[in-house]
Amino acid sequence: MYYIEVMSVFLFLLVFGAIFAPFLGGCLVLLLVLFILGSLIVFFSLNFIWFIIAGLILYSAGFIARFYKWYHLPDYNEYISLHPQCKLDTGVSCFKCSSDKTLHAGLFNKQSKLRYYICSSCKTMLFRFKVLQ
Ligand SMILES: [Zn+2]
Repeated sequence: MYYIEVMSVFLFLLVFGAIFAPFLGGCLVLLLVLFILGSLIVFFSLNFIWFIIAGLILYSAGFIARFYKWYHLPDYNEYISLHPQCKLDTGVSCFKCSSDKTLHAGLFNKQSKLRYYICSSCKTMLFRFKVLQ
């Protein structure tokens, strides 16, 4: 019956890779996870279902934590009224270090519609915005 476990590890990795590849990128991570998961299962003879459950819990916890953090960021208008000195002709500046170099990032991956601006000097999260489409 050993091949069933091997098959389920393989299937789990496919799902895991599909979810995490945009964040982590590359098959190096996938190989590492394969190695760690495989050795855990072999060494502790754990039931595979617990890995799926633990993975799902960890993933949803991370998902919720990220969204919660994003949701509590000010939006553009709130940011300007909180930090009026940060409004520039060309855009906005960072309220911490006053750098005018900002970049935006997606919440869950590069193409995410939920985005936020971060200061490129001190990496402070500045404000959130949504891509409408
Ligand atoms: Zn800054």
